[in-house]
Amino acid sequence: MFEAEPPTVKQLALTGSLPTDTAIGQTLTDVHLRYSDLDDGEVADYIPILAEADPAWFGLSLVEATGDVHEAGDSAIGFSIQSISKAFVFALVCHARSHEYVHERIGVNNTGLAYNSVMAIELNHGSPMNSMVNAGAIATTALIPGQTPAEKWENIRTGLSQFAGRQLELDGRVYHSESTTNQRNKALARLLESYGRIITDPLDTVDIYTRQCSLTVTARDLAIMGATLADGGVNPLTKQRVVSAEVARDTLALLASCGMYENSGEWLFEIGLPAKSGVSGGIVAIAPGKGALGTFSPRLDTAGNSVRGQRACFHVSRALGMNLFASTPAR
Ligand code: GLN
Repeated sequence: MFEAEPPTVKQLALTGSLPTDTAIGQTLTDVHLRYSDLDDGEVADYIPILAEADPAWFGLSLVEATGDVHEAGDSAIGFSIQSISKAFVFALVCHARSHEYVHERIGVNNTGLAYNSVMAIELNHGSPMNSMVNAGAIATTALIPGQTPAEKWENIRTGLSQFAGRQLELDGRVYHSESTTNQRNKALARLLESYGRIITDPLDTVDIYTRQCSLTVTARDLAIMGATLADGGVNPLTKQRVVSAEVARDTLALLASCGMYENSGEWLFEIGLPAKSGVSGGIVAIAPGKGALGTFSPRLDTAGNSVRGQRACFHVSRALGMNLFASTPAR
């Protein structure tokens, strides 16, 4: 429908800048204190091991596109990345394939339904709809380069580690817990297979997907991974280019419409940033050209988004002027 790259349009990033380091540090400390006592929501337990999380954990980290790192609370506690991996695997697939390929093969529109919905596939004639819901994420994992499942998994682990700027490790206990209880994801993959919408063996692909969800990260890692997308695809700490600026842009666009599942519209209205959440309690919210906020707190709302994390993102976005849609008159 659209030309790939209109030749006369110069792509400029006009996104302003964050306030001083002191203001950022103070904001994170204030937000941490303000929401530490909030205990609404429930820790996920459909993956049995996630129920062992301490509901009191609460960590924040903001990494600027310049590479400056700010932290508050439990920003160094490890947890499984879960659905947040979908954002970065999507970026790796866009990098390996193309904008048009993922648009056609997967799709970029919100389902309006829960992330593990079977109905969403049925209502859309077999389309997985987008790479941020489980069906679309599994179909996207299938598109990662590699001749064998082992090679594909290694490419995912290497790519996500480059986003984080350190080698990410698989949590064997989380992987085992999810592998023995993920009948629904296997069913979603089989359903996609029945529609001819998955290009590799469905169960092998679910296994790779389960591994990617079991990688251990911290709130600080999430902020660095997000800051790589905020910095035109270059990791601001290692200075390594992980994906192209175009892929970073496309990933953020998808996160804006689909990153917070069926609550993405409300999220964008309140917080105004592309973001991705995971069922273990992480959120990464990205301000293009400026940096990214990583939050971790395990209590979730009914859509599966961290309650404290959402409040923290709201507050930080407002306090530091990160909302994408905010402007003031030029004169
Ligand atoms: N691994 C989880 C699943 O497939 C990820 C879901 C999530 O984080 N929302 O159900």
